[in-house]
Amino acid sequence: MSASWESLANDHILGIAPYEPGKPIEELERELGIHDVIKLASNENPLPPSDRVMQAMVDALHRINRYPDGSGHYLRQAIARHQGLTGDHIILGNGSNDLIELMARAFLRSGEEAVIPHPSFVVYPMIVQAVGGIRVVVTLKDHRLDLEAMARAITPMTKMVFIANPNNPTATIVTADEVEHFMDRMPDRVIVVFDEAYFEFAQGPDFPDTLSYLKQGRKVVVLRTFSKAASLAGLRVGYAAADPDCIALLNRIRQPFNVNSVAQAAALAALEDDSHVRECLSMIEAGRHYLVDEFNAMGLKYTPSRANFILVDVGRSASEVFHWLLKEGVIVRPMTSFGMESALRVTIGTPEENRRFVKALKKVLAGARGA
Ligand code: PMP
Repeated sequence: MSASWESLANDHILGIAPYEPGKPIEELERELGIHDVIKLASNENPLPPSDRVMQAMVDALHRINRYPDGSGHYLRQAIARHQGLTGDHIILGNGSNDLIELMARAFLRSGEEAVIPHPSFVVYPMIVQAVGGIRVVVTLKDHRLDLEAMARAITPMTKMVFIANPNNPTATIVTADEVEHFMDRMPDRVIVVFDEAYFEFAQGPDFPDTLSYLKQGRKVVVLRTFSKAASLAGLRVGYAAADPDCIALLNRIRQPFNVNSVAQAAALAALEDDSHVRECLSMIEAGRHYLVDEFNAMGLKYTPSRANFILVDVGRSASEVFHWLLKEGVIVRPMTSFGMESALRVTIGTPEENRRFVKALKKVLAGARGA
């Protein structure tokens, strides 16, 4: 009898549930026999990149026969300048997902613990488990990361703590004061990974300046991405800012050409083009107000959002509502797999997309009440 593939696999990976990506929009349109489906399911930016960024991509395409700059020199320098750091504080990743994986592979030894919030970004537990680490899961309190409980979860075996700020899927933040108190309690041997994929949307005096901890020599790593505010999700480019010694270790294990040349060119142009980000931020803020007003009018509870998505309680089976919305051509994300049976996560779209979502939601909820 031949050996099964599972019997040959690394034990660590057998318990991992596969990540379930949504269907391509075109496939869904074909199945449902409808057009102009809108996708508010993956916290993407509804606006395409600016003309300037488009042009940078086209220019880069003319040199696509060459390998990318393996060190991402110009992009790293530009990021560093923006952050008051030097290029050796920065490593680029194929999305910030890549950097989460590099962190776990570089630092988490088999049997060591990583403290992770729940519900939060699904990639943390997946990667911790893939490298043989132990997941120490700390449940959110009132839909916010419970930094007190996370600090209490530190043991002599803890190597790493993940802090998604703002958190996905709740869109809540932990404040500068809370982070300060948390950092006071962190031993020097514990690496605090601040995942700030949505930080542009959350800016305000209460939002922590986590790079300041890095500048003070604390063991922190700050992850950022061009996928959200910069409209470049499809290109896959993010970065980590950390102590140069940490970055050097991550560089030893990353793929030599992990960020493609079009992505590097686009991200560089995007960094120099903050008018696009400002435009997106004001559109998202207006969309957030619109959705919140509508949820209030419908009597639905929601979690106040500091990101480009909102968690809303639809008061009945979220997976049912999700399917009904699909039939109306609106894709959102039910939170059933997180154990939140009546919650949907909806990405804030363009004004037109938001209106269509609200109209569809009203229709399906009215239908459900009538049923
Ligand atoms: N962190 C969080 C909290 C996220 O929600 C996401 C994307 N959904 C990422 C990281 C990864 O983003 P990317 O790999 O596109 O940079």
